Formats: sequence, structure tokens, C-alpha cells
Amino acid sequence: MREFLIIPAALLLIAAGLPDDVPVPSPNPRDTPPAVLSGQDPAATNSETPPPVTPKPAEPDPAPPKPDETALAACEAELKALGAVFERRDAIDGPGTCGLSATYDVTRLAPGIEIRPETEITCRTALAAAHWVRDVVGPAAKVFGKDVRLTGLRQASTYVCRTRNSQPGAKISEHARGTAIDISTFEFDGHGALSVMPEQRKGSREEAFQKAVRAGACLHFTTVLGPGSDAFHDNHLHIDLARRNHGYRLCQ
Ligand SMILES: [Zn+2]
Repeated sequence: MREFLIIPAALLLIAAGLPDDVPVPSPNPRDTPPAVLSGQDPAATNSETPPPVTPKPAEPDPAPPKPDETALAACEAELKALGAVFERRDAIDGPGTCGLSATYDVTRLAPGIEIRPETEITCRTALAAAHWVRDVVGPAAKVFGKDVRLTGLRQASTYVCRTRNSQPGAKISEHARGTAIDISTFEFDGHGALSVMPEQRKGSREEAFQKAVRAGACLHFTTVLGPGSDAFHDNHLHIDLARRNHGYRLCQ
């Protein structure tokens, strides 16, 4: 629900002069309150800067765009054909640019391959994950033996309204758009669960599996980060569908 504030005309003029703070925060932080992604009141900070009473700017908080029902129907049909189990939920209308126009709770990515806990992602993200699991992760599990079968993925994060790596001032994360999944563990029938971990360079099959599924993720996602990418990804694979110029893929 939007609040309607009664603001004197002079203050409205000040507010109207402020640039939008979405999707990228203003380069001049003295002129605007800090980027707000989780509901804090921006007027409650910055007591050093005159004027003493800072008006709350009329922040844009757009509703999620209307879902493309034709595209979603095609996506859902493809997910079903792949054997995924999912439910469509309502849009998530987060603050600012956070949110999804249609949310998919996926509990199974392919026959016999669960994802837990259930997700909050876009349909095309679910589809990319289902293809990755069918074409890359499931077959790679055979390295452990012909009777070993992939049974599940554990995810550590899907939708959350935050900046990249939760760093103040960073750009908005793909997690806030519902296109990102953090995979922490792979589970098997016939082999112990494998948690994503820094590469030990032991030459083990477990390391080979992790490398293979990580490399193969870049066939289906446009961002793949993991151990060694930076200090934030030592214990999970981050995969997302960020859109970049010329279709550039960032796989590290
Ligand atoms: Zn992530």
C-alpha cells in the first residue's frame, strides 16, 4: 500500500529535483538518502546535512510489470514436459525494483530430483535449472558409479531483496529479481551428499563433479560464481539469468 503524504509545495519542489534512486543509487550520496532495499526509513538518517528537516522524497515504487501470460504458459508446459513439479504463486511486490511478476515455487526439477527448500524464482529460471539438472548434473553423477543417482539439490537462497553480495551501494542483486539460485549441496542415492567447497586440488572425483556441473551451468545460466570467484562464494554456486549487453556470460 502506498502512503500519500501531504507535503508543502516547497518541499515537493525539493523532492522533485532528486533523481530516482532506482535501479542505480545516485552517484552523489550527499544529495540523496542511501539506497533503501529493506524498508528502512531514509529520512531517519544523515543528521549532519542541512536542512534540519529532510522531506521524505516521493520514492518510485513501481508495481511489478504485468506477467506475459503467453510466455508463462509456454514455460510451464516445458517445465511439466521435463517432469518438474511446481506451483505458481502471486507476484512479489518488493520495495523499489525488487520483486517478481510471477513467482514459482519449485519442489522437483526433474523426475526423482528434488530441490529443497522450495524456491521463489521466475519460470524461466526454473526452466534453466531443470535443463541444467537434466543435461549436466544428473549425467555427471554417473562419475560415482553406474548405480549412483542424483536425487536432489539444496538451495541456500533464491528471491531476496538485496544488493549484490549485500554490499551497501552495490547494484541490485539478481536474487531481488528472482533469477538467481544459490546451490549449496548435491544429494545422491548411492553416494554421500556433496556440499560445494573450495577446490582442494586433490584430483578427486568429487572435485571433478563440482567442476563439471559448474562449467555446465554456464550453458544454461548467464552468471555462474563459486569457490575462488571471490570471498562471498566459497560454499555455494551462484547461478542467475542476468541480462547483459550482447548476451555476455559471466562464468568464473
Ligand atoms: Zn547468490
